[in-house]
Amino acid sequence: MKFGGTSMGDAARIRSASKICAGAQSQRPTAVIVSAMSKVTDMLLDTLRHAEGGDAAGVEMMLAKLSAKHRECCEGLLEGPARTETQETLNSILAEFVRIAQGILMLGERPPRSVDEAIAVGERLSSNLMAAYLRSQGSDAVAINAREVIVTDAVFGNASPLMDQTREKAINRLKPELDHGRLVILTGFNGATMDGRPTTLGRGGSDFSASILASVLDAEELWIWSDVDGILSADPRIVPNVRLLEEITYREAAELAYNGAKVLHPRTLVPLMEKEIPVWSKNSFDLSKPGTKIVPITKEGPIGPRAVTSMTNVALVTLDPASAVLSGTRIMARSLEALAAANAEVLVLSSSSYRQNFCFLIRQSELPAVIEKLEEAFSLELAHGYLHPIDADLDVGLVAIVGEGMKGHAGLAGRIFTAISREEVNIIAIAQGSSELTIAIVVRKDGVDKAVRAVHDECGLGA
Ligand code: ASP
Ligand code: MG
Repeated sequence: MKFGGTSMGDAARIRSASKICAGAQSQRPTAVIVSAMSKVTDMLLDTLRHAEGGDAAGVEMMLAKLSAKHRECCEGLLEGPARTETQETLNSILAEFVRIAQGILMLGERPPRSVDEAIAVGERLSSNLMAAYLRSQGSDAVAINAREVIVTDAVFGNASPLMDQTREKAINRLKPELDHGRLVILTGFNGATMDGRPTTLGRGGSDFSASILASVLDAEELWIWSDVDGILSADPRIVPNVRLLEEITYREAAELAYNGAKVLHPRTLVPLMEKEIPVWSKNSFDLSKPGTKIVPITKEGPIGPRAVTSMTNVALVTLDPASAVLSGTRIMARSLEALAAANAEVLVLSSSSYRQNFCFLIRQSELPAVIEKLEEAFSLELAHGYLHPIDADLDVGLVAIVGEGMKGHAGLAGRIFTAISREEVNIIAIAQGSSELTIAIVVRKDGVDKAVRAVHDECGLGA
């Protein structure tokens, strides 16, 4: 089971999450993965930014907030010696963070490796709080730092797991605890390199931690608890009549996550697919809701589009050769190399013209690194005017329609485009791979919500 930040948001939330854990544990061995309390990772990062900028007062202020937030939670959960003891544990974890923050304050620099070690403390604080509370309620619970278990590469800030090494550690470290009937409360987000340097799995990475552990432990099921009812046919802030999906396939859920649905970290499903471990997305705030089950194949089979999602924090980058002397294919090849060097993910890639100009959509957060790598790769062509200056359009958004059942159905794209054009929203770029799993459409930012509603309606996705 994995509990997200809002499900760990305060003493009351941790109490009800703990109750869910203890209930599950009474049925079968249960491993729990937790996020930091909501907003804590942001606060930790903010503190380090203040430190890098030499703002000692800002650092002090943030530290006071962080420590008050956890103290208050500890006081809300525990009493007597258990409270004192847990408060001491929290203090010593926070002291590790303070040590790194002070180092950064002194250096005026935030090395990624130190940032990872520092921000990993959020989950260590929350897991210790939950384990201590469970013990106070009579459960045999233990907090374990996942960096003792999840082995990763050394890409600080966005590490990837080494599954074989992780499996070995999980069997040695976690199996005995589970076999003893102990409830293990693991930190999400955390890992470490082979030689023990702490890493993190990327923002929102606790889902990924949970799926890695579910896979190496051969879990029967993975339950992901958050503050929403499950996976919906669209974002309820945009579409009034969304439907809660009872079932959805791994491939569909992965596409939705990749294209902006906030319900799962995009990398979550990969470790589970091979072993076909089902995943439940459930609401820890409302246990009466059944949630969504993510499975290899749904009972009703592939039936047309399943959901529509959107993203607005994106950038459309265009490369436009000014001279026919350049090989368009070469330009594309070198651009993709540059994107890989910038560690960027391509959301949409499209080219259609004789002049071989082409465009791709990326997350805005990745734009500075992408532009830097592209300008480096094409410095000569740009200097000599063979390539028009690289253009990045931020006034765009992505609309993505996802469903395994779209494959082989003539007319669907036509209906989708017609529905969007009825709203007088212009389509800037489009992409559909040969898997026909996703139709991705780039429009002006102010047209995104209208387009989402129009497509949701046209495809009859609503309740
Ligand atoms: N606490 C981390 C974050 O906020 C990981 C997570 O919540 O999944 O990014
Ligand atoms: Mg989170």
